[in-house]
Amino acid sequence: MPSKEMIQKFAELAVKTGANVQKGQPVIVRSSTETIELAREIAKQAYIAGAKRVEIQWSDDYVSRYGLDYMDLETLKEVPEWVVKRAEHAIESNACFISITSPIPGLNAGVDPIKPQEAGKAMMRKLSFFQTHMMGNKAQWTIVAAPNAIWAQKIFPELDYDESVEALWEAILKASRVTHDNDPVNDWAEHNAILSKHNAILNDYQFDALHFKNSLGTDITIKLVENHVWAGGNEVTTQGIEFNPNIPTEETFTMPHKYGVNGKVVATKPLNYQGNLIEDFWLEFKDGKVINYDAEKEKETLKNLVEFDEGSSYLGEIALISHDSPISNSGILFFNTLFDENASCHMALGRAYPMNVENGIHMKPEELEKIGYNHSMAHSDFMFGSEDMQIIGKMKDGTDVVIFKDGNFVI
Ligand code: ZN
Ligand code: ZN
Repeated sequence: MPSKEMIQKFAELAVKTGANVQKGQPVIVRSSTETIELAREIAKQAYIAGAKRVEIQWSDDYVSRYGLDYMDLETLKEVPEWVVKRAEHAIESNACFISITSPIPGLNAGVDPIKPQEAGKAMMRKLSFFQTHMMGNKAQWTIVAAPNAIWAQKIFPELDYDESVEALWEAILKASRVTHDNDPVNDWAEHNAILSKHNAILNDYQFDALHFKNSLGTDITIKLVENHVWAGGNEVTTQGIEFNPNIPTEETFTMPHKYGVNGKVVATKPLNYQGNLIEDFWLEFKDGKVINYDAEKEKETLKNLVEFDEGSSYLGEIALISHDSPISNSGILFFNTLFDENASCHMALGRAYPMNVENGIHMKPEELEKIGYNHSMAHSDFMFGSEDMQIIGKMKDGTDVVIFKDGNFVI
């Protein structure tokens, strides 16, 4: 474990910069049993920041795995009424959310993929109102990460158990901009300012489409929706409260047009989906839809993702990150999207973010769909950036603007 002081700094960052807990606001902390110490410190810091009440919702991935093994499909698909009520209550009481992620790689190996797929679908169906609430930035939410030994061993197999956990803590804190001699809350204010500058430049251009090309075989054109908004760094709730949904974050992202994606994209990092690692894969799009794909490993899992629902075979996000960025330079593959997506340009299959279009968070679903918004219950980011990535911005008047040269921003 890092020192008490470092854990406190990290927890404070999650509370102040991440969720930006307001005086008198209820806070819900979602934590794995792998990350008890951090969850406790976050709860404490939330109270210090003025939280009305802090509730911890624990999950245990091992017990969840037993559930997948021993429960029958019908039971797995049952969503108890109290789970729905709990989500309704969180919305009514204007709670904000702090999630601690600590994935256990390989835990679901050997599970019949239909089971988590169907259980997930049933849950999403019942709780889609809650997802709309969160994705529409109706309340503040944030995700931070903390290690567990199996995850640490996966990243640092050459170290022993304790050393690998220490090493992963160090990597997570560094990527999250928490160091021994800094004020993370201050550093994040500066970092957010740099990201918003980038957003502003891209917003001014209002590119009609982006063209990506590299030597691995990526050659794809992505049309952007009219009046798209580039976002990244901090966001603002519909009530006007700033928050940072992801710690860390390095990305600048916007909304592709659902039916405007054509070409082939080759992934450059594995994708962890439902506990399985999809490796060395590519996807081909026509008029927005995935029409062909392949993977060296876990093709079946990729199929589950693409066929999850109608929208999961279309894009909902395109994000730009310079190859020369802190997480990318660390050279560490975290096997976790929160980190790996910040090391590389990425796109997401599935649901788009309403805030990525002007006035989007106030639009009705049917209005959003009209402008090219992709609706889905899935949202899975995968990485395709490379050191030789070239990105050309195509203006409506036919002008081309070089955005990325040799993997990095040049505007
Ligand atoms: Zn992203
Ligand atoms: Zn995403």
